[in-house]
Amino acid sequence: MQGIAASPGIAIGRVYLFKKEKLEIDLKSIEEDQINSEINRFEVAKNKTRDQLEAIQKKILETLSEEEVGIFTAHLMMVSDPTLSYSVERYIAVNKMRAEAAIDKSINEIWEMFQSLDDEYLKERAMDIRDVGTKMLYNLAGKKMVSLKKLDHEVIVVTTDLTPSDTAQMDSDKVLGFVTDAGGENSHTAIMARSLEIPAVVGLRDATSSLKCGEMAIVDGNKGIVILNPTNDQLEYYKLLKEKYQLRKKELQELCDLPAITLDGRKVEIAANIGMTKEVKAALKNGAEGIGLFRTEFLFMNRTTFPSEDEQFRVYRKVAEQMTGHPVMIRTLDIGGDKNLGYMDFPYELNPFLGWRAIRMCLDRPDILKTQLTAILKASHYGCIRIMYPMIISLDEIRKANLILDEAKSELKKNDIPFDNSIQVGIMVETPAAALIADRLIEAVDFFSIGTNDLTQYTLAVDRGNETIAHLYQPMHPAVLKLIKMVIDASHKDGKWTGMCGELAGEEGAVVVLLGMGLDEFSMSSGTIPIIKKIIRNISYGDAKKIAEKVLLMSSSDEITEYLDNSN
Ligand code: PEP
Ligand code: MG
Repeated sequence: MQGIAASPGIAIGRVYLFKKEKLEIDLKSIEEDQINSEINRFEVAKNKTRDQLEAIQKKILETLSEEEVGIFTAHLMMVSDPTLSYSVERYIAVNKMRAEAAIDKSINEIWEMFQSLDDEYLKERAMDIRDVGTKMLYNLAGKKMVSLKKLDHEVIVVTTDLTPSDTAQMDSDKVLGFVTDAGGENSHTAIMARSLEIPAVVGLRDATSSLKCGEMAIVDGNKGIVILNPTNDQLEYYKLLKEKYQLRKKELQELCDLPAITLDGRKVEIAANIGMTKEVKAALKNGAEGIGLFRTEFLFMNRTTFPSEDEQFRVYRKVAEQMTGHPVMIRTLDIGGDKNLGYMDFPYELNPFLGWRAIRMCLDRPDILKTQLTAILKASHYGCIRIMYPMIISLDEIRKANLILDEAKSELKKNDIPFDNSIQVGIMVETPAAALIADRLIEAVDFFSIGTNDLTQYTLAVDRGNETIAHLYQPMHPAVLKLIKMVIDASHKDGKWTGMCGELAGEEGAVVVLLGMGLDEFSMSSGTIPIIKKIIRNISYGDAKKIAEKVLLMSSSDEITEYLDNSN
């Protein structure tokens, strides 16, 4: 099966079909004579949920941590809580609701009540309420609930699509590879696969209907191929290929601590993109000289409340300390688009990628931004931290965000809390608007970081996650390259610098052109750092400049890639 190569490497293993069945809540009223049977359905679902929880608890009691035992106990108590039963039965009997609707409504009300409490511990319990409610609803519908959180053996995950929060929860030690029906090369799922160094093929359209649980499969993340029920010859061939791939990776890694200096002495910075703190280890192992993009939104996912200032501070400080003085560029919350938070109301939007997201949302909710900026500032005392605002389209947005930053700074000063007062502040250039007025935006910032994932999607009007038009998603399109050049030039003219944290920065085929355009910093998924360093160390800046000049005169990405392929 041919799909889109999303994350390199070879995986050989058994298929695990991850199907999240959607639950439909029937909102139609019931008749008087159905009340008893609906209450009975609720009782059955409740008892089944309790039995399941008890069975799991018994089975894995020895392996659970104290905290996990506590969670199970809390879940069990909630299932048997009379408040819940009373509320559900009342909605069925008085409001003539179906059991599903009555459970959903009751759970939501209890959840909201917990959410409104000041106590952090009780707020956390709100998530348990949701979990218990979801379990009951699945039981009521006779459907099985699946999760990627705890897998008991190594698998190749096959699914329609993975949301960023599914991927963040995934037991990454057990996932050998993954395969999805939907998605493009630069969907967040693909990016995370690369970060976690898990081979992946996306956009296969009918993988979930062709692959069955337990079947053997090979995922070739280099070529975007999935082989179902491989023959012995194929298995042998791919085992060898896998070994070769791993050997090459190891060889490259041995040199990865060398600096990225061209043959004629131009040095550029090579950094890693991370979404979770656990990725710092891989960044260091692969020779990252900094974190060029910390996607902080993952810190906000898979929970029921916003992380507190203190919680955020501890995470940012830890990353800064682990990076021992190397720069860490923390991007302020980029939520919305394909990344929502279960505990925050997002409006229904026809075009979420063009909607209420990133800096737009943060400027409307300054409380969220200020908490985050305060946490970042506090952490800046413990390393070299830089701040980056996402999705900027105007000078006004930068100024407004900086006003909030100034407020946070003054409060810290007033309270004698140390922070880096000259912390660098930059923006992601990921909209054509920002690129086109880069010469004006530069006055308000210390640096630019080009986000080619979104810049490509918005410049070409091609959804980055849509497999049907994946062939049109071309970061090497002359229009995108022209914008990149404008941004770099605008920053240099003002004595400042430009980095790139979009996936293009880690593309083997693009690095020479970007280098030749004058890019100062390249930030990418950790796994690609060694090869990118090697390419840079083997070319002169003079040659790269000549190649970039030629490429910038070309009129299609086909022409560009063909020329670059031949000049290698
Ligand atoms: C980008 O848009 O290029 C980027 C780095 O941000 P994200 O992929 O998180 O949207
Ligand atoms: Mg982006």
